[in-house]
Amino acid sequence: MVSVDAERGLVLIAEDEPAIADLQRLYLARAGYGVHVERDGQQALAQIRRLRPALVILDVGLPGLDGIEVCRRLRAEDDWTPVVFVTARDDEIDRVLGLELGADDYVTKPFSPRELVARVAGVLRRARGIDGAIVLELGDVRLEPTARRVEVAGEEVHLTATEFDLLATLLRRPGQVFTREQLLATVWGIADYGGSRTVDVHVAQLRAKLGPRAPIRTHRGVGYSAAAP
Ligand code: CA
Repeated sequence: MVSVDAERGLVLIAEDEPAIADLQRLYLARAGYGVHVERDGQQALAQIRRLRPALVILDVGLPGLDGIEVCRRLRAEDDWTPVVFVTARDDEIDRVLGLELGADDYVTKPFSPRELVARVAGVLRRARGIDGAIVLELGDVRLEPTARRVEVAGEEVHLTATEFDLLATLLRRPGQVFTREQLLATVWGIADYGGSRTVDVHVAQLRAKLGPRAPIRTHRGVGYSAAAP
């Protein structure tokens, strides 16, 4: 069942609806990913620990353990494997975004398999990093793009791939005000991504992790900039 393309990596799909799992498997395999499917949350968690996939596609409504609980348990073990959630309803999106679980992205059913593959590619590209060895520093925050490492006052802080890219984007141009639309385009790579709430939620998560001296300023009605606290 498991065949891993060394370059693309293994994607673990946790999905209990066979028709959806088959479609995801087909498109991801065609795009060159190794694919492993689990239909139950408990099994998915066990296989994520065993197989160490490059990315997990996690249905929220799973039997056994739901997708949110699977992600919560991974993060509790300091496992920051990128996660793309699959949600069925608006209230599930709110749960995914509201709990600071370190979701790197999400799609809502029904979604196009092509869109899912594009999201997977985007999250993996960000997780692997494309920058040179420049260090970005502002206030107490130090970010190493290549190592994808962030420190606040010398203490390492674990960010999701999305939070990391958001911070790096702001820190590359201190003082420049980015609109939410610009951040969506730069960080998420998508021109129109279902509204600005995504940006606001990720900025809030980032601030929560960086602490009271987070070097991010809100420009009401406009967007965000990096600025010394
Ligand atoms: Ca389901």
